[in-house]
Amino acid sequence: MYNENAWKKYNKNDLDKLFKFNDEYIKFISDNKTEREVTKASIEILKNKGFKNLDDVKELKAGDKIYASNRGKNIAAFIIGSEDIEKGINVLGAHIDSPRLDLKQNPLYESSDFAYLDTHYYGGIVKYQWVARPLAIHGVVCKKNGEVVDIKIGEDDNDPVVMISDLLPHLAQDKNVKPGVKVIEGEDLDLTIGHMPLEGEEKDAVKANILKLLKDKYDIEENDFVSSELEIVPAGKARSLGLDSSMVLGYGHDDRVCAYTSLRAILDTDKVSRTSCAVLVDKEEIGSVGATGAQSKWFSNVIAEIINKSKKNYNDLMLQHTLTNSYMLSSDVSASFDPLYPSVFEKKNAAYLGHGLTFNKYTGARGKSGCNDASPEFIAKIRNIMDNANISYQTAELGRVDQGGGGTIAYILSNLNMNVIDAGIPVISMHAPCETVSKVDVYEAYKGYIEFIKNIA
Ligand code: MN
Ligand code: MN
Repeated sequence: MYNENAWKKYNKNDLDKLFKFNDEYIKFISDNKTEREVTKASIEILKNKGFKNLDDVKELKAGDKIYASNRGKNIAAFIIGSEDIEKGINVLGAHIDSPRLDLKQNPLYESSDFAYLDTHYYGGIVKYQWVARPLAIHGVVCKKNGEVVDIKIGEDDNDPVVMISDLLPHLAQDKNVKPGVKVIEGEDLDLTIGHMPLEGEEKDAVKANILKLLKDKYDIEENDFVSSELEIVPAGKARSLGLDSSMVLGYGHDDRVCAYTSLRAILDTDKVSRTSCAVLVDKEEIGSVGATGAQSKWFSNVIAEIINKSKKNYNDLMLQHTLTNSYMLSSDVSASFDPLYPSVFEKKNAAYLGHGLTFNKYTGARGKSGCNDASPEFIAKIRNIMDNANISYQTAELGRVDQGGGGTIAYILSNLNMNVIDAGIPVISMHAPCETVSKVDVYEAYKGYIEFIKNIA
């Protein structure tokens, strides 16, 4: 079903399945807010479904289910197909990092009897959205002795939260005339984390008290922040949105909504003719760079390992054939048309909440710059698959020409000579601490991903 409201085709029984799937999604994104947490949770789910660690497997054959992970921040799950892997694999790719605030390396200070943690934002945040709201601290502190301390503060009902203060409107005369990007600036994003002095301490007694708490609870010291990775995210759970509960309001749908649906598509598929995969990467929000980003050699190395364990006499040509013959959905969220801001969209080519899985032939900005621009031959195959399975889908580009733009990991994998297209779920308020998706789009994407891995060839 192309470009129609997907809700219309649902009967009672199908609606129950749709809402149940979304309940599971809501739980997953409420419990797992960072790339490390998603990777860890995914490994648990995969193991429970019989997937084995690729490192522990000597030989691979059709029907085998395996996973590979990278530095605790990437995960890829594979079902080995019955066909020769050199005919290509079918890939669902999404990212599991979301815009947030990271702690600086030397973050802790005291000022006027408050203790603060200084941050550096990660990804494209709208800074004024992050003040005066409950925030949580997630991440790890790595100690010199090799110990890794897991930290999660602000999610349990009994936990305290942290926050960034904002100026009261009564005194905001100067601030109120600033342009949006200047209302709250990067160096204003300091977290209030305490104001109670340590007994008997003369100087910086509030900071000293915080350090004592950290020592008592986690056995960490101030210098341990240097080797920490602490991420500040909105505190609290994702929720059903709307009186009809038709949508989900939550942090980081971008891009865990595509990550979860891609992972579930692999988990809920049994046998495939072409080897199929869901790969979840990190660092998309800052350019897909680094060892755990999509530009890393990790993913193609994993494919090489799989070929090596599936066939005799591995050579590099086998890897090149496999990549060239592969099909991929680069699954990332699309900007949904927002009726409150119609002027930035071109209505014929906008994504709509509730119209299903969204394909972007191209992304980019200023004349498609930097995009992958999928081939029409590939798109025709996808249309056929989606129509045959009665999947609701739509096509879109990111806003009006010359209004802005964006891109994601599609071009990186297409540089390996794979066939790649952007495909994802429309989001309202993208990159805000609370983003909105439609439950019907979440479910249609999940079903569409299954059809893709089973049928694209
Ligand atoms: Mn994204
Ligand atoms: Mn994003």
